[in-house]
Amino acid sequence: MAKAQMKKRKIVRINEDLCNGCGVCVAPCAEGAIQLVGGKAKVVREELCDGAGFCLGVCPTGALTIEERDAPEFDPKAAEEEQAKRGKTLLGETCFRCGATEENVVLIPCRHAGKSQWVCVHCLPPLIHG
Ligand code: SF4
Repeated sequence: MAKAQMKKRKIVRINEDLCNGCGVCVAPCAEGAIQLVGGKAKVVREELCDGAGFCLGVCPTGALTIEERDAPEFDPKAAEEEQAKRGKTLLGETCFRCGATEENVVLIPCRHAGKSQWVCVHCLPPLIHG
């Protein structure tokens, strides 16, 4: 495997002191960049992290942020291969208002009342407009 080119770019940062090892951030990372290692979340292959930050909204402790630093370039081909290996992964999360799952509706991560939660697109408009 050729060594990935280093580049200054956006990538997920995990604050180990804040991470409680709940593992909720693993499934939202479609590319499989985050795994639990020794009870803590880790970006196990930096070239799989595209810095999109889908994991950020689910972390209950605020351990995940996006930073800009030197890292191997994102490798879309490797991410695609990893996704194919993992197959379809469902979050196991539900809309905090109606209980819908991602199997039948689009879920969006959000922060509400001091908690990281998921809301479905049907319940989002009433939250926005009251
Ligand atoms: S969701 Fe947050 S607290 Fe849970 S494993 Fe991931 S980084 Fe750690």
